[in-house]
Amino acid sequence: MQSFIYHCPTEIVFGRGAEHAAAEKLRAFGASRILVLYGGGSVLRSGLLSRIEEDLTSQGLAFLVIGGIQPNPRVSFVREAIREGLAADVNFVLAVGGGSVIDSAKAVAHGIANPTVDIWDIWTRKTEITKTTPFGSVLTIPAAGSETSDSAVLTNEDTGRKIGLNSPLNRAVFAFMNPELAFTLPREQIAAGASDIMMHTMERYFTDVKETNVFTDRVAEALIRTVMESVQRLLVSRKDYDAMSELMWCGSVSHSNFTELGRRKDFSVHKLGHELSARFDATHAMTLTALWGSWARHVYRYDAARFAQFARAIFGIDAGTDEERARAGIRCMEEFFASIEMPTSLAGLAEIGTLTKGAIEDIARAATANDTVRLGVFHPLTCADAIAIYEMANH
Ligand code: NAP
Ligand code: FE
Repeated sequence: MQSFIYHCPTEIVFGRGAEHAAAEKLRAFGASRILVLYGGGSVLRSGLLSRIEEDLTSQGLAFLVIGGIQPNPRVSFVREAIREGLAADVNFVLAVGGGSVIDSAKAVAHGIANPTVDIWDIWTRKTEITKTTPFGSVLTIPAAGSETSDSAVLTNEDTGRKIGLNSPLNRAVFAFMNPELAFTLPREQIAAGASDIMMHTMERYFTDVKETNVFTDRVAEALIRTVMESVQRLLVSRKDYDAMSELMWCGSVSHSNFTELGRRKDFSVHKLGHELSARFDATHAMTLTALWGSWARHVYRYDAARFAQFARAIFGIDAGTDEERARAGIRCMEEFFASIEMPTSLAGLAEIGTLTKGAIEDIARAATANDTVRLGVFHPLTCADAIAIYEMANH
C-alpha cells in the first residue's frame, strides 16, 4: 500500500433537520458576526434561508446576508462580498447552497483574513496565504463536494479563466447536510451532481500510481456504483430520502480525498472542462461527461489493465482482453451518462454546440498555458493531446 496523509477536519452534521444545528454550533465555536452567502434564490423559494436567519437570531448571533452567486461563481462577486464582510467585521462565513456558493464562501473567507491581497492573486498563486476566516456550509445539492474538499473554483470574467485552488485552508469547519433540502432540485441538476461525484472519483481512480491500494480501489468502485443506483432512483422519484442520502454522502466522501489515499489525482478532464465553462458558462458536470469518453479513448492504452479493472468492477465486464474490456467499459460509462440525459459530446452542450478547429486550438492552448503545462498524471496531456480530445468530442 502507498503511504499517505489524510486530514479532513470538517465536522459533518448529517440527516433530517441538520441545518437547525448550525446556529448553535456556530455560537459554540465562537462565531458572533456571520456573513451568510447564497445563490440565485432557490433558498429563498424553499424557505431555508428564513429558517436559518431565525435560528441565528434565536442564538443571539449578528449576521449579514448577501445573495446572487451564479453557477461558475465570479471573482467580481467575491471581491464585493469581501468588502462588505470586512465592513461588518464578520468572523464566520456560512454558505447556504451548492458548490458555487461554498467556493465563493471559501474565497470570501480568505479575502477577509488577507485584506491587503487581491483574491485573484491568491487564485493564480501569485500570493501564498497562511490564514483564513472560519467558514462552513448548509448544503443544498449533492454535487461538487466542496463541503469537505480542499479545493475551490472561481471564474475571472475579465480574463475568461476558471481556476481551482487546492489548499488545506479550503477545508470547512462545519458541513450541515440534510438530504431533504435537495428535494427541490430539478432533474438535470440531480443528474449533473451525480455525474460530478462520479468524475471526482474517476479522476482519482485513473492515476499514474501503479501500486495497489485495494481498499481505496474498492471504496471508489462501491461509491461509483452507489451513485449510479441512487441517481437512477432519484430520477424516478426526487423525494426518495434514502437515495438522496446516499448521493449526498457519496458526494462528500468522493471529494474529501478519501478515494485517493496513496495516489495522485489526475483531474485533467476537470481542467479541460473548466476551459469550456469559463468561455461558454456551461454547467460544470456537463462539460465533464461531454469530454470523459474522448479522454478515456485517447489515454486508456497507457494502462489498459486499469480500465479493464474498472469495467469489471462497475459493469461486470469479464470477457475479452484488457483492451477489449477497457473499450467496453468506456462505452458502458458513456451509455450510462446518456441514460441520465448527460451529454457525451460537445454538441450535447446547448451553450457550445460544435467548435471550429481554430477555437479548439485556442482552448487547448489556454488549458495547457501554451503547451508549457501538462494536464493530469494518468497520461500527462500536452496541448496536442488536448486538441485531440476536444476534436474527438466535437460532434
Ligand atoms: P451550483 O452551481 O452551486 O448550483 C447549481 C444550480 O442548482 C443553481 O442554479 C442553484 O440555484 C441550484 N440549486 C442548488 N440547490 C438547490 C435546491 N436545493 N433546489 C433547487 N435548486 C437548487 O452547483 P454545484 O454543482 O454544487 O457547483 C458547481 C460549481 O462547483 C462549479 O463552479 C464547479 O466548477 C465547482 N466545483 C467545485 C468543487 C470543489 O471542490 N470546490 C468541485 C467540483 C466542482 P440557486 O443558485 O438559486 O441556489
Ligand atoms: Fe467537479
